[in-house]
Amino acid sequence: MTSDTYRALPLLIDGSLSYAAEGGVFENIDPATEEVLGTTADAGPRDMDRAIAAARRAFDETPWPTDLAFRVHCLRQLRAGLERHADELRRTIVAEAGSPVTLTHGPQLDAPVAGLGWCADLAESYAWETDLGVAAPLGVPTRRVLRREPYGVVGAITPWNFPMQITLAKVGPALAAGNTVVLKPAPDTPWTAAILGRIAAEETDLPPGVLNVVVGSAHGLGAQLAADPRVDLVSFTGSTATGRAVMRSGADTLKKVFLELGGKSALLALDDADLATVVGNAAFQITTHAGQGCSLLTRLVLPRARYDEGVELLVETLRNWPYGDPADPGTLMGPLISERQRRRVLGYVARGLAEGATVALGGGIPAHLPRGYFVEPTVLTGVTPAATVAREEIFGPVLTVLAHDGDDDAVRIANDSVYGLSGMVVSASEERARAVAERVRTGTISINGGLYYGADVPFGGYRQSGVGRESGRAGFEEYLEIKAMAYAH
Ligand code: ADP
Repeated sequence: MTSDTYRALPLLIDGSLSYAAEGGVFENIDPATEEVLGTTADAGPRDMDRAIAAARRAFDETPWPTDLAFRVHCLRQLRAGLERHADELRRTIVAEAGSPVTLTHGPQLDAPVAGLGWCADLAESYAWETDLGVAAPLGVPTRRVLRREPYGVVGAITPWNFPMQITLAKVGPALAAGNTVVLKPAPDTPWTAAILGRIAAEETDLPPGVLNVVVGSAHGLGAQLAADPRVDLVSFTGSTATGRAVMRSGADTLKKVFLELGGKSALLALDDADLATVVGNAAFQITTHAGQGCSLLTRLVLPRARYDEGVELLVETLRNWPYGDPADPGTLMGPLISERQRRRVLGYVARGLAEGATVALGGGIPAHLPRGYFVEPTVLTGVTPAATVAREEIFGPVLTVLAHDGDDDAVRIANDSVYGLSGMVVSASEERARAVAERVRTGTISINGGLYYGADVPFGGYRQSGVGRESGRAGFEEYLEIKAMAYAH
């Protein structure tokens, strides 16, 4: 072991906080300063193998899957532990994800931690059995009972943009349902997960192997987890391209694969919409965490007759939008996660220009922020629905503005996408907005700026935005099998 290894944050495997079998470590970079924050144990295939074996054993050989009261107790301990370390976690999420600290008071930290409590309550009050009553199929009098059971070993693979939110949205219901878990977090945000592992090991009664946290720099660890025959269910959040790879990896063993993927969600302004409301929502969405959220609204679709007026107001609003240091409580927008992501985002802007779009605002690296992976809030106008920037997920603070010719056309544009994650409709008439919202093919949709976010609300996508639902009762049931039991009567 090098001296660095001792300073690195360890993995959690089979109940022990341990370093990588090969002794490797990797660096954690602050995207707002480009400085090295420190190091994490860099797990390799042997560590992943050990974690999967431990999770398998904990599921097959301990009372965890059947002891609901103990599971609820452990989840409440985990929530309390996370709350005790909220300051450390807040600092870590700001530093490693470049997330504005403001967001940690909501979806980046406090809300998902509280959501663990919701999850424990749900498991406690859940109807684990349903009596279907007596029937006589083929003349055999039978009482039928449906029983819910955990899947087994869950492999959870998470991205870097909302490292605690997405992790707890998987780990919470998976454990509450009686599964055991191997968590493979994104290499860009290793510490949030490593600290979760430490808290689980030191401050809860979670038995060895029930929760394993395998942090590593290689994406191959995720592929290994998705392919391993000892894993029963893979729960993945990330890009649509990687989601396809995960589904392929799980295909040989016909695993259940839960996918929460990309989006290109539309904000539809109907012709009677209040433009200040439209622009306020559009600016808020595209700058939140620098546009690094799969459900953020990245296409603004304005009525053609009000296009210029809307763009002018939008540009005026975003021109003075505060952004920069994510630790500043007045900031909603920090940096992108990496230089690679910044190059990708700027590449999309260049592609937009090449395909005939106009940059109405931004489009580059801000002169006043020479360090950190920042990109200016950017507005692309004159975009046709066929343009690459109107079709592909950019994952940066880049809003493409399109024009529609009435409600039917607006719906057509919203649905002209391989994605189907989210959306918003703004109209002076709630009834009219609702009628349009019903026709948009997405898993969530806002009417006049309402927010669907919450532990009790299922979140997920239609079409290539995903398979299944995260959070809410539906999100809990993703982690449960149904067994139909038939008693001779
Ligand atoms: P990003 O653009 O954030 O890197 P990805 O969708 O590629 O998004 O990554 C999300 C998560 O999936 C990360 O934890 C990453 O390590 C993991 N991952 C990447 N490639 C694969 C793969 N082929 N199989 C399984 N997991 C993967």
